Amino acid sequence: MADTIFTKIIAKEIPANIVYEDDRCLAFHDVAPQAPTHVLIIPKKEIESIDQLADQDSELLGHLWIVIRDIARELGLEEGYRVVLNCGREGGQSVDHLHFHLLGGRSMGWPPG
Ligand code: 5GP
Repeated sequence: MADTIFTKIIAKEIPANIVYEDDRCLAFHDVAPQAPTHVLIIPKKEIESIDQLADQDSELLGHLWIVIRDIARELGLEEGYRVVLNCGREGGQSVDHLHFHLLGGRSMGWPPG
């Protein structure tokens, strides 16, 4: 897959407001927040989208969910939060590197747009 802006953030070639990092993933505040808290959680492994997941990525995905839980706790989202994953153009994906949006700090509407 082609490099994306997230590849450059992982490599620290462009800055980001990082909230968590380990050997497998990185989490940072979205540059255009859609809620008072809007954090992106991404694997360091270059996976284009949920559609490109390999069967052997299941452990990595489980890890990402645990990281999301811990960041939500760390950021005080005890009233609740939403996790969004966009896939493909009709799904609203604009950066072709798998990422979860963690949104919180306000009431969320349903259905999403
Ligand atoms: P998508 O639309 O692919 O689901 O989400 C991509 C997200 O990446 C958007 O919410 C967008 O604001 C965010 N984003 C795009 N470029 C940058 C950047 O350079 N830095 C940060 N922190 N977020 C970015």
